[in-house]
Amino acid sequence: DNKRTMNFGAGPAKLPQPVLLAAQKELLDYNGIGISVLEMSHRSSDFTKILKAAESLLRELLEIPDNYKVMFLQGGGTGQFSAVPLNLIGLKEDRCADYLVTGTWSSKAAKEAEKYGKVNIVHPKLDSYTKVPDPSSWSLNPSASYVYYCCNETVHGVEFNFVPDTKGVVLVSDMSSNFLSRPVDVSKFGLIFAGAQKNVGCAGVTVVIVREDLLGKTLKECPVVLDYQVQAGNNSLYNTPPCFRCGGTAAMERLSKEKSGMIYDLINQSNGFYKDGDEALEKKFLDGASKLGMISLKGHRSVGGIRVSLYNAVTVEETQALADYMTEFLKEHQ
Ligand code: PMP
Repeated sequence: DNKRTMNFGAGPAKLPQPVLLAAQKELLDYNGIGISVLEMSHRSSDFTKILKAAESLLRELLEIPDNYKVMFLQGGGTGQFSAVPLNLIGLKEDRCADYLVTGTWSSKAAKEAEKYGKVNIVHPKLDSYTKVPDPSSWSLNPSASYVYYCCNETVHGVEFNFVPDTKGVVLVSDMSSNFLSRPVDVSKFGLIFAGAQKNVGCAGVTVVIVREDLLGKTLKECPVVLDYQVQAGNNSLYNTPPCFRCGGTAAMERLSKEKSGMIYDLINQSNGFYKDGDEALEKKFLDGASKLGMISLKGHRSVGGIRVSLYNAVTVEETQALADYMTEFLKEHQ
């Protein structure tokens, strides 16, 4: 693994070397059947086995209760920004939904929901996306169809370290960028979704976990491909799914904390050096990193700066290499 470029990208992101090697090995001949998984019918018994194995592994990893459906869908996280209101805003007649807007992705989700019902942003307007607004400032609508939040805002880096208490209203979460990085009590949620391209696989598949009793209130204008009841009823095979293979959450949480601690400690001890942006220095930083084989450290184009994504596949050694480089860079340019 140490000969490969160190990829700190936000997604599509690094995949574990054993996963890439297995995929490479199976690309000409999957399991002795003479074709690859990319070429096989999604209705074949071989693909059915892959899909069933992916679902049961996920159920095991997250201890998903039996009254939840697991779906592997297309359309990415963005598809779910529309699918969530189309399927759930009709849960109550008022068609109202509560949104927590803590960054780019929840903001986009709220805008999409406005097309299908009334959206209430539950907290006072934020000047910048730097932290989760204190729950004491939230005004939740008890008759909302659901409360929506993004568990980890990938552009702004705001992550929830608690599950919002919605006083019984259905809770929906976009977990795209921290999915499977730590254990989650699924029973607290009505719906969880996550694009696979960060922690669990490649772009093209989005995992949706939904409580069964929430199905069936889909708005009639919902495109059939986004209709959870149809997709769940067809085991994600209403239409052709992305046919490829996807690769204990407690261990991932420990590793995640260790890795992010290495970088955050350094930032916090840098006397503001790694907080106050300077475009020329940033360019120097990125050029130097690239020479050391570290890529995809540039911040999202909408906010600039530097962004380090430490998904599950990024190793402690790679994180240490980055921390060492940051220490050197600080000494040289402070
Ligand atoms: N939600 C989050 C938290 C994301 O990070 C992203 C993409 N980076 C999306 C949604 C959108 O996903 P997609 O590009 O798959 O539509």
